[in-house]
Order: sequence, then structure tokens, then C-alpha cells
Amino acid sequence: MSDNNAPVLLWYRRDLRLDDHAALNAAHASGHPILPLFILDDETPGEWIPGGASRWWLHHSLQALKSALQERGGDLILRRGKTIDEIARLIKETGAAGVYCSRQYEPFERNLEAQLTLKLASQGAFFNSYPGYLLFDPYQIKSKADTPFSIFTPFYRACLKAEPPAKPTPAPNGLIFSSATSEQIHDWGLLPKSPNWASGFSNCWQPGEKGAKKRLTEFLAHSVSNYADHRDLPGVMGTSRLSPHLHLGEISPATVWHAGLLDGPGESAFLREIGWREFAQHLLFHRPTLPRTPMREDFSDFPWVDNSRLRRAWENGKTGIPLVDAGMRELWSTGWMHNRIRMITASALVKHMMIPWILGERWFWDTLVDANLASNAAGWQWVAGCGTDAAPYFRIFNPVIQGQRFDEQGHYVRRWCPELQHLPNRWIHAPWTAPPLVLAEAGIRLGAHYPTPIVEPKAGRTQALAAWKQFRQSAS
Ligand SMILES: Cc1cc2nc3c(=O)[nH]c(=O)nc-3n(C[C@H](O)[C@H](O)[C@H](O)COP(=O)(O)OP(=O)(O)OC[C@H]3O[C@@H](n4cnc5c(N)ncnc54)[C@H](O)[C@@H]3O)c2cc1C
Repeated sequence: MSDNNAPVLLWYRRDLRLDDHAALNAAHASGHPILPLFILDDETPGEWIPGGASRWWLHHSLQALKSALQERGGDLILRRGKTIDEIARLIKETGAAGVYCSRQYEPFERNLEAQLTLKLASQGAFFNSYPGYLLFDPYQIKSKADTPFSIFTPFYRACLKAEPPAKPTPAPNGLIFSSATSEQIHDWGLLPKSPNWASGFSNCWQPGEKGAKKRLTEFLAHSVSNYADHRDLPGVMGTSRLSPHLHLGEISPATVWHAGLLDGPGESAFLREIGWREFAQHLLFHRPTLPRTPMREDFSDFPWVDNSRLRRAWENGKTGIPLVDAGMRELWSTGWMHNRIRMITASALVKHMMIPWILGERWFWDTLVDANLASNAAGWQWVAGCGTDAAPYFRIFNPVIQGQRFDEQGHYVRRWCPELQHLPNRWIHAPWTAPPLVLAEAGIRLGAHYPTPIVEPKAGRTQALAAWKQFRQSAS
């Protein structure tokens, strides 16, 4: 017979919220006092421990969750170490009856869940995991032939046909908590110090559940109706910017989904993007090698080659291609980048500069506040042309034409590349084509105030296509 005074652990992972939290609801329904716990584990994820920008976000999100729990009479217990050892230790320390948590789908998280089930059973404790990170568990959506999907459109169609996600539920009232000794978050060193490259992040973001809800409310009030038209314009607040909140589970995808279920083109375009998030997780679940290995096997020998000079210029937003530089500087300053600009900057790296996509993926991993193993890897493979549902390799974004189309007035470029602000619109996306007099009047000397392009887009395209042609010939 179970002792109802024994606590149960509510192991927080990427589900840092109270509302619409199946594991919390189940822990509450068990009648046991709840001991909320977060473990900073820099061992189990191997090379995919959270990067610098993600750690900044995590610090603030944990603080927000701790406050929210304290407001309800509880607390968040913080431990650092290998998850399996820390949980086993805490079970011993507190006599907890078992663990409740939300499921995660990265290969190392799935291994960990399997190990925990066995380990806890050996301690006489239970391990109960619940959905909530996604709308659908990745194994739930299958083709008619009972196989996983590798193309987005049929996958999304199957999602729309599946049992719709349950409506979100508020956090239960009357939560009863238990406690244990906790480490202090300030001792974890999650925030950058010297230099503090994240100093601008707080102006852009409010990590935590409250911030997530506020972001959703603002998006629904001001942007969702124009989403279909504005979502590709980087100079406009046209998208939700919910990605870091969704990544750490500060808001559930079901909450976002049901809020977006209004009847307009903006809404359906928006929900489709939530579908892309599901798809990326589906791909990673069924192909655990996604972050490192091209999905298309024929790409495993593609002649990408690292060039650290070009790569550093790209990372620092000093390529001399304004739209690419604007994106890379937005990323550095805010920890986020607009989706279209992610595609354009990624394309410039892997195609114009021919640098391996995994090096770009790694930079994004370290600098994005929404860095997500599945979405990042799927995004890079899509751009590189080696994913199964990817843009074909020979579709090469021209950053000048993209700029003229999606940043017609140059607002976005001028914001992030202020040295170009006096350049007339006609040349803002290709300053190297401006007549010397125009450059002089705008106060720009190329090579001094702003770089000459490290790879001129037309030349980059020709080189990328030549490499592609040669690769195809040698493969056939
Ligand atoms: C090279 C590359 C790398 C990327 N890396 C990441 C990453 O690490 N983490 C991440 O969350 N997204 C990533 N994306 C996808 C996409 O760029 C971001 O999700 C989006 O820009 C987030 O902005 P938003 O919240 O305003 O999106 P919205 O347009 O408002 O979309 C709503 C939500 O849908 C999801 N979503 C939208 N587009 C995509 C997509 N293409 N793939 C997966 N989910 C999507 C996000 O959760 C997003 O918050 C990447 C895309 C590319 C091309």
C-alpha cells in the first residue's frame, strides 16, 4: 500500500509551466505532496548540452517558474549532476514514491527515460511520463502504410485528420507541496559574464510562462490576422516569436493551437507552422542521426569544405552582404532570427561559401534562444538540400533579390547595419554595385566602413552550381 504522505517528484524538463501540464495534473491527482525538481545535467545530452543563449533563457525561465511555484506555496528544487544519479539520490533522500514528468523525444532523452524506468523500479519507485511537449506523440502520426512520414504536406494532412489535441487545462487549485534542499541558480553560471553578450536580450524577451502568455495574447491581438502576408517580412513584427517559449515548454503547443483555431488565412498559415515544429520532432524521433547525418545518403560525400575566414565573417555579420549581415547581427544581439533570414543566412553559408551545414547548425545551436535539436537540424538540412523534404540543392537564395522582395524599403538592413543607413533603397541590398559618388554621399567607403562582399552572390551561385554538377557527375 502506498504511503500518501510520501512525496512524488515532479521532474521539470522542457515543460517549465504550470498550466496545461499533464504530469503536474497527474501528480496532483495522486494525492501525494509534490516536490518540483529541475536538474541541470551537462553530461547526458553529450555534445547537445544547451548553448550559451539557451542557458541565458533557462536561467530566467527557472527563476520565473520558481516564483510561480512559491506564489502557490511550493518551490523549485534545483540540483546539478547526472540526471539518473540525482533522481535516484533524491528518491532515497526524501522517500519519494515515484517520478512524474513530461516526455521528451531527443535520442538521449528517450534513452534516459528507459534507464530511469529500470533504475526507479529497482528502488521500488514508479516512473510516469506524459505527453505535452507536442500536439501528437511522434509515433502517433503514421502513413496509411504504417510508416513514418518524410514529407511535410502528407504528414500535416495526417495531423489534421487525427484526433484533435485536447483543450488546454489550467493548473489545478490546492496544490500540496513537499520540499528538499536546493542549489542556488546563481551558482550555476548560466548567464554570460565577461563579456556579457546577452545584455540586449532582456529588452526583447520575457522568459517564463507569464511572458509566453503575454506574447501569445499580443500576437493574437495585433499580428495573426496579417500573418499570411507579413510572415516573410523581417522588418515587421509579423510572426509570433513564440519559438523560445515553446522550446522550453513555457506554453503548451495545445494552448497555442487552440488559440490559433480561428477562421482566417492568417490563422491557418500560423497553425501550419506549428505543424512544421511537429514534423521536425517526428523526423528526429524516427531518424536519431538527423543532427549530424544528411537524410539523403547521396549527400554524405558532398564536397563542403570549411573556410574559417569566411565562416568567422558570417558569424560576425561581416560578409559584406547586407541581408546576411543584418540577420547574423540580429541573432547575436537578440538570440533570435526571423525564419526567412534563417533560410537566407544558412543558404549563404552552405551554398555561396560551401561550408558544411553542421558548422552553421552548431553556431545557431550556441546563439539561438530557441535552439532546438529537431527544428535546427531539420532547418539546416532543408536549406542544404540534403533533407528528404528539402529545397533542391540548386535552389539558391539570392540575398540581393530576397532583400529587394522582402525588405523593399531596407528597414531591416538599416536597423542592423546602421553604417548603411544613408544608402538609397536602390543599392541598400548590394552596396558594391553603387556608383562611387552614391557611396561617398552615403558616407561609406567599402572595405573601411562596410566590407566588400567576401563572396559576391552571383559568383557564389556559379561556384555552388559547378560543385553540384561535378558532384552529380562523379556520383553517377
Ligand atoms: C536553418 C534554420 C534553423 C532553425 N532553427 C530553429 C531552432 O533551433 N528552433 C526553432 O524553434 N525553430 C528553428 N527554425 C524554424 C523557424 O525559423 C523558427 O521556428 C521561427 O523563425 C520562430 O519564429 P516565430 O516563433 O516567430 O515563428 P512563427 O512563424 O510565429 O511560428 C510559430 C511557431 O511554429 C514553429 N515553427 C515555425 N516555423 C518552423 C519551422 N520551419 N520549423 C520548425 N518549427 C517552426 C515555431 O515553434 C514557432 O514558434 C529554423 C529554421 C531554419 C531555416
